[in-house]
Amino acid sequence: MRTLSKSSLTLLILTILAGLLTQPGNNSSAANNSAAEPNPLLATWQGPFGGVPPFDKVKVEYFKPALESAMAENLTEIDKIAKDPAPPTFDNTIVAMEKTGQTLDRVSTIYGVWSSTMSTPDFQGVQREMAPKLAAFSDQITQNELLFKRLETVYNSPDKKKLTPEQQRLVWLYYTNFVRSGAKLDAKAKARLTEINQQLAGLFTKFSNNVLFEEDNEFIALKSEDELKGLPQSVRDAEAASAVVKKQPGTWVVMNTRSSVEPFLTYSDRRDLREKVWRMFIMRGDNGDEHDNNSTITEILQLRAERAKLLGYPTHAHWRLENAMAKTPGRAMELMMQVWKPAVARVHEEVGDMQALADKEGAGIKIEPWDYRYYMEKVRKAKYDLDQNEVKPYLQLDKLREAIHWVAGELFNFKFTPAPNVPVAHPDIKVWQVTDKTTGKLIGLWFFDPYARAGKRSGAWMNAYRSQERVNGEITTIVSNNANFVKGKPGEPLLISWDDATTMFHEFGHALHGLNSNVTYPSLSGTSVARDYVEFPSQLMEHWLSTPEVLQKFAVHYQTGKPIPRDLVDKIERSKTFNQGFATVEYLAAAILDMKLHLLGDKKIDARTFEKEALAELGMPHEIVLRHRLPQFLHVFSSDGYSAGYYSYLWADVITADAFGAFSEAGGPYDKKVAERLRKEIFSVGNTLDPADAYRNFRGRDPRVEALMKKRGFSS
Ligand SMILES: [Zn+2]
Repeated sequence: MRTLSKSSLTLLILTILAGLLTQPGNNSSAANNSAAEPNPLLATWQGPFGGVPPFDKVKVEYFKPALESAMAENLTEIDKIAKDPAPPTFDNTIVAMEKTGQTLDRVSTIYGVWSSTMSTPDFQGVQREMAPKLAAFSDQITQNELLFKRLETVYNSPDKKKLTPEQQRLVWLYYTNFVRSGAKLDAKAKARLTEINQQLAGLFTKFSNNVLFEEDNEFIALKSEDELKGLPQSVRDAEAASAVVKKQPGTWVVMNTRSSVEPFLTYSDRRDLREKVWRMFIMRGDNGDEHDNNSTITEILQLRAERAKLLGYPTHAHWRLENAMAKTPGRAMELMMQVWKPAVARVHEEVGDMQALADKEGAGIKIEPWDYRYYMEKVRKAKYDLDQNEVKPYLQLDKLREAIHWVAGELFNFKFTPAPNVPVAHPDIKVWQVTDKTTGKLIGLWFFDPYARAGKRSGAWMNAYRSQERVNGEITTIVSNNANFVKGKPGEPLLISWDDATTMFHEFGHALHGLNSNVTYPSLSGTSVARDYVEFPSQLMEHWLSTPEVLQKFAVHYQTGKPIPRDLVDKIERSKTFNQGFATVEYLAAAILDMKLHLLGDKKIDARTFEKEALAELGMPHEIVLRHRLPQFLHVFSSDGYSAGYYSYLWADVITADAFGAFSEAGGPYDKKVAERLRKEIFSVGNTLDPADAYRNFRGRDPRVEALMKKRGFSS
């Protein structure tokens, strides 16, 4: 559930791009673009809504020449600023920088969409070639000495005080980002830094390739009714659809992805097959073959440690967190350990309940990791009389889409109208225009790409195609939400799970963070905020799914059209803290390992040994496995993005739980005054001020951890 946010600080984009997931392929030749034919990726965006991305004109062969030409153009622009004979000022240096790189922004946006949703072997060849080049390009800007001198002069100038707070924040951001990227190093250190960044870009690509290869190429085909025992019809249908994709006629296929594995583990009565499927999934990237990621992890960690030292930080974690809301690894660790103990205590209770149920059934087993989801579901039924399959007929994808639009209308006064003529990358993608309900003013565009397909990475995420800003004119935002639902039968509504519905609200929260943006400078726009703060608006939006207003209007039965019964809603409400031990521990253990790994400095790490020892030291419950084992931990090893940063989800959830209290304490989730404060102080301000200050402006105080403990049902 990541955001890919775009900002005109090219370095930021490129760090993200370099890490976008890729798949292996062997065609590295990019076809020549004929000189006569203009490359459509380089053109300014034409058409309505302030111009729209030319998704209908993309050919893989356009990417390499477009990226190269756009990088060259950007370097020329930067050079002009660096060599400006006029003394450096905010306008001729910082604002000038904000106006550069527009072509590269446009090309990178489409390149990013292709790498995450339209990937092919041809495209992967381009990616392998371009990843190190993009990394080097980024260093070329941050290592430009003349440019940095100008930034430093503006940063240290007494005139800085005359700037607006937003402008001062922008100056600080530029200066800090440059320093953190090595602008103050000597020539030798800079050269080494560039080498490291290019090597890392290559290793990130390799790491992702390996995981994707095993997700794509490993699967388990079920061949008989006996092997399907316990699976509900919706799961069987999805597996039959997967069998078509995998060309396994007459079978039902469990793919090696989370969305395929988890339903199987939840419902299959066949314990032997549960174990087999579980092992396939948790061993991704760890099979001792050519796609094994263990040695790649060792190399990445060594290079990160060396880079941190070069830049003057004790470890990679210290370097990463300096600019985050947590500021130090110690503060992040402290929060994680505070939650860890009560979460583990809860797991022991959960396992106790499951073991008792298994004993009562005479199963004659001891709960193992491949039993957890299965017995958890049985306990849910026994304890709360709640069957997830009873809820599903009320959760239609199309209705939930209407629901999120309706919530956005209530909270932010937005109206969503289909925009059918906007070009898309694939016919499954639909576009809506967003306007202000009262004034009719255009807010932006929302793309929705809901279905899984070959070449699209798994999971769900938000992406900003264009950031709101006012430096280059009145620019409206373009955002997208992406998911991986397996397409239903034609003409039948697609039913989704409660978890998937929650994820829809989550990702839409990121989209609303982008759509509400009301700032001047593109680098400070929308979701371009600290990593451990960006999940706050999205996690907050999850709360609106279970509001009675949404359930009554939109959770309607796909056959009868009747709203979800009150007693079912009550059961959902009562079971809210159910299974929070499992959910917290599988996530938190991964977050703690991520932080510990990046606090080790240049000690040479064997990933398998480290994982085993660190989990033993933590007292990891035997019945749970890491949500992401190290050899498949894409958050941490497919880019620097969430490295020493997986704790962010917990950090942001402390803020989220505390923030929702503002609604509960007032008139409820649709309280107009609190919603207006939320828009004004949180959703519209982007990175124009310190997130801790923004939160205080909204809540009148700092966040407290108690609300999180209560939300998860832990005693603190
Ligand atoms: Zn998210």
